[in-house]
Amino acid sequence: MSEPALELKDVRKVYRTATEEIEVLRGINLTVPEGELAVIMGPSGSGKSTLLSIAGGLDKPTAGRVVVGGVDITDMGEEELTKIRARKIGFVFQSFNLIRNYTALENVMLPLLFTGIFDVKEAREIAGKMLEIVGLKGHENKFPSQLSGGQQQRVAIARALAPSPDVVLMDEPTGSLDVDTAAKVLSLVRWLNQALGQTIIIVTHNPEIAELATRTFYIRAGMIYEEPPKKMLIDTIRELKAAGSLEDIR
Ligand code: ADP
Ligand code: MG
Repeated sequence: MSEPALELKDVRKVYRTATEEIEVLRGINLTVPEGELAVIMGPSGSGKSTLLSIAGGLDKPTAGRVVVGGVDITDMGEEELTKIRARKIGFVFQSFNLIRNYTALENVMLPLLFTGIFDVKEAREIAGKMLEIVGLKGHENKFPSQLSGGQQQRVAIARALAPSPDVVLMDEPTGSLDVDTAAKVLSLVRWLNQALGQTIIIVTHNPEIAELATRTFYIRAGMIYEEPPKKMLIDTIRELKAAGSLEDIR
């Protein structure tokens, strides 16, 4: 059996400011096996972004362990972490976070080069293919400012996916997009999970994404809870209806 894509073991996070200490995460245990589309929901300020940053090695937990694709990244130094992050973790942010003075192609090439696995020629080739996959053929040499929000987010998704990471973490990826553009990004997310089998963990308020989830988690007061996925409930109701047993219940 393969390793889970992501494991958080009793992860705690305390933020200390000049005047106070807040414990945002109070012992998070989370295992996401390969191939899942896990959705994390929760009120604003509940620690969703903090959790993703820690899972993606962008921030350190105060206590606990973070294991990505079987590799414990908790105590890794910055140099080693940069390589591991490039190879094993993709990140998609609400605000795209593309490098402004790099072209779309160069943005996607960057993590590939950071892995230390690919040379420039290979990185260029893979990046071009990834941009084609997300529907941006012909836009390779444009700068972020020359692309729409939806196109920029697709560049960010191509960048996250390019090195075939163990897990792609998305923090409210449709939060800055209008409804129609969000829907297109959504169907891309679904396709990446269902057709490519990419493990994705996504923080979102978007109910349409929540319906696609294979696992649904909820953060509240520093703890994480798993809910039955909406899809499972919908399928169950459909089966019960088909079998006529829903009528019997009523
Ligand atoms: P969410 O993404 O669920 O809205 P966040 O993870 O961004 O929540 O924040 C959780 C809590 O931690 C909030 O109360 C926020 O103010 C606080 N927080 C986040 N980052 C920092 C930081 N760098 N320093 C101090 N407090 C922070
Ligand atoms: Mg957030």
